[in-house]
Amino acid sequence: MRLVLIGPPGAGKGTQAGVLMKDLGLIHVSTGDMLRESIKKGTALGLKAKEYMDQGSLVPDQLVIALVKERLERPDAAKGFILDGFPRTPEQAESLGSTLQAMGMPLDVVLYFKTSIQVITRRLSGRRICGQCGKNYHVTNFPPKKTGICDVCGSTLVQRPDDREETIAHRMEVYEKQTAPLIDHYCRTGLLAEVSGDLEVADLNKVLMELFKKRGFDVVLTSTS
Ligand code: AMP
Repeated sequence: MRLVLIGPPGAGKGTQAGVLMKDLGLIHVSTGDMLRESIKKGTALGLKAKEYMDQGSLVPDQLVIALVKERLERPDAAKGFILDGFPRTPEQAESLGSTLQAMGMPLDVVLYFKTSIQVITRRLSGRRICGQCGKNYHVTNFPPKKTGICDVCGSTLVQRPDDREETIAHRMEVYEKQTAPLIDHYCRTGLLAEVSGDLEVADLNKVLMELFKKRGFDVVLTSTS
């Protein structure tokens, strides 16, 4: 299955993608994670991306498009993928369409995570991330076993620079202006399915599994957990 997840920051796209990836054996392509990884490694792309990301603005289209194209051309993408946080602009959507058409791998569903502002604010302000391995936590909804310390690698948890209150408002504006128009675009193509990003992870996952079955996808769980 080839999926795109669209929704405002804090809609739970990354968390849900993590579950779907394991359950359905798809690869998870998160442009935000890839860019943060480039920053951590200090690559040329990371250096360029950092200034935009810290301000809550979008990284220029050409940079992100090249990153995603390279990822989708790797052999493991043929088993299916979840695009999380891409496309985010009409130009990215157009480029994705032509890349996938050329590869003979059209999208199956675009999931729009409609989410209330109250839930977004609560999720983003409480989100913490491991500075080393990138694992996500939430101070109340999904706390680590030991406060401030990553369960997986024992490193210190930090707040993402773009999750600070003053930056969240800007990210929401950017989302409304540049990304929200894609909802209409994918609605016109018949690919869009709207779900509630306000739901808890497990509840939304059930809704998604039903939706996939209704759309005729043979949902075979690959995970045993
Ligand atoms: P995310 O982890 O998806 O919330 O993304 C964090 C930040 O990475 C965004 O605020 C942007 O600065 C940058 N970013 C992620 N994906 C994209 C994209 N598709 N286009 C442009 N910038 C992006």
